[in-house]
This record gives sequence, C-alpha cells and structure tokens, in this order.
Amino acid sequence: MLLFESKVCKMKADLHIHTVFSDGLYTIPEICDLAAEMGLAGLAFTDHDSIDSLIYYNPQELEKRYGMNFLPGVEIGTHWKGQDIHILGYNIGYNIGWFRDFLSSAQEERQKRSEKIVHLLNQQGYELNDDDVENLAKIPSVGRPHIAEILIEKGYFSRMDQVFDILLNPGKPCYVPRKTFTPFEAIEAILNSGGIPVLAHPGLLKDLSIMDDLIKHNLKGIEVYHPVHPKKTVYSLLKYTVSKDLLATGGSDFHGHGNDELGKCAVAMDVVHKIKNTKINLRESCKT
Ligand code: AMP
Ligand code: ZN
Ligand code: FE
Ligand code: FE
Repeated sequence: MLLFESKVCKMKADLHIHTVFSDGLYTIPEICDLAAEMGLAGLAFTDHDSIDSLIYYNPQELEKRYGMNFLPGVEIGTHWKGQDIHILGYNIGYNIGWFRDFLSSAQEERQKRSEKIVHLLNQQGYELNDDDVENLAKIPSVGRPHIAEILIEKGYFSRMDQVFDILLNPGKPCYVPRKTFTPFEAIEAILNSGGIPVLAHPGLLKDLSIMDDLIKHNLKGIEVYHPVHPKKTVYSLLKYTVSKDLLATGGSDFHGHGNDELGKCAVAMDVVHKIKNTKINLRESCKT
C-alpha cells in the first residue's frame, strides 16, 4: 500500500525535501523508495543548513540506483530586517571545504541555541535530563522540532504545533533567537560554490519588497509552488518571477509529519534541467 496517495507525480520533480539529516522524519532511502513508487522523476534534498546527506549519499550514485535525477540541495536559514528568510541552494558545490565550513558555523549556532532552549525549558519546569541534552548535541543541524519531539515523547504535549505555539515561537517563554547569516551572504555563498540560489516559500514573508533586493544580489529563482501558497499567491509570484526572468521552482517541504505529502507542488523536469545547465559566472556574485 502506498504510504501517501499518488497524485500527478509522473515526470515531475520535488525540489524541497527534509530528511533525518535535519528535522525530517525519513531517511534518504525511505524517501527515494516512496518517490520511485509515486513516479517522481527528480528530487532535491534541502536540509536546514546541512549538506551532510550529500556526503553519505552521493547524488550520482543515487541517480544510478533509483533512475531519478538528484539535485544537490540545501536550505539556509537567514534573517533580515525582522524577517526569517529561507534561501534554497541547488547544484551547490558540496565538496568545497569553505562551503562546508560556512554551513558548519550555522550548525554551531544551532547547538548554542539548543542548549539555551533546554535551560529555559528546565526553568519552566519541563524536565529534560542529561540524556536528552546528549542526544540533542549529537544532531548536527539541530532545530526546534527536535526539542519539541522530546517534549511530546515525555507526554507534555501531543502535537508539534502546540509546542511551538506555547513555548518555542517568537514571543513565547522558551524562544531563543539564533545568530544567522543575512540572505545576501547565503546567496553569495551558494553562487560562489557554483550553485543556484532560490528564495524559499515567499508566501510566508510579511514584506515581499525584499525580493527586489535579493534579485539585485543575484538571486536566480523563486519557489513559486509550495504547500502554504494559496492559488492567488502562486499566480502573483509566477507573474513576478516571469517578469524578472527567474526560475520558478517548487516542492513539498516534506518533513514526514502529519499532513505532509511528498510530491506536492512538484515541478516539471525542465526546471531541473535548467538548474543543471545554468552556468554560474563566479564574478557575478561580486557585482554588488
Ligand atoms: P528551526 O530550524 O529551529 O528554526 O525550526 C524551524 C522548523 O520548525 C521549520 O523548518 C519547521 O519544520 C518547523 N516548524 C516551525 N513552526 C512549526 C509549527 N508551528 N509546527 C510544527 N513545526 C514547525
Ligand atoms: Zn524544517
Ligand atoms: Fe523553510
Ligand atoms: Fe524547508
């Protein structure tokens, strides 16, 4: 039996997927099996601030094994003028030492924040012990969902969104901000690694005027298709993306939780081919 109903996935690519290498619930082989069963033709694993999956699962070897296209991917969390802005990177140079170090520094900040959140939780009376702390410290790209899962396992809450609403969202008692890159730094790093920077789920932004600035800094695409985007948002983003001659990408943002559907908002394979065939002029990123 299919774990998720097969929608119109044939010859399409899901370009936004999280795995156990960040806060997704499924492993790479589990997702590949599922995607193959659904008839997806292309995948990009886009873990938060992590390209570790690409070291353990080489995209070329995955292509041979599963007969699908695999775009090396990442989703970098950034902050600018009061907004969290996620920048996707495709076809990134995942073997480049400085690019790996760049992401490692974001992971170190994640670890620092995780320790601070645990401290606040204990102050609030939620009992997280040394084992919990040790387990969190072992997750390189640790995020709030990992902490929420522990609280759910301990019976304090039954659902992830409750933990965020009550404790972990901005303004709540155990929220701790994280030092991040700016979106411009993320775009530059992706470009310098030879990759294609794309703005993730702009529908979640309060102020879309940032898009013009990002384009001035050589953003190459907009994630037009995303499960949180209503039709109206898709139409206006598509119009904007076409007017700026950018790539329109899409994907499910699959984490494996509740209503997540692998293959949702998948895009035509020509998007994958365009990304693979876009040659980045490395001097471009120094233009601004
Ligand atoms: P972090 O990486 O620690 O900033 O946490 C962000 C991640 O938490 C997102 O990628 C989502 O997967 C998840 N998340 C954020 N808000 C919620 C929510 N209300 N319910 C469930 N998951 C959430
Ligand atoms: Zn996530
Ligand atoms: Fe995101
Ligand atoms: Fe995501």
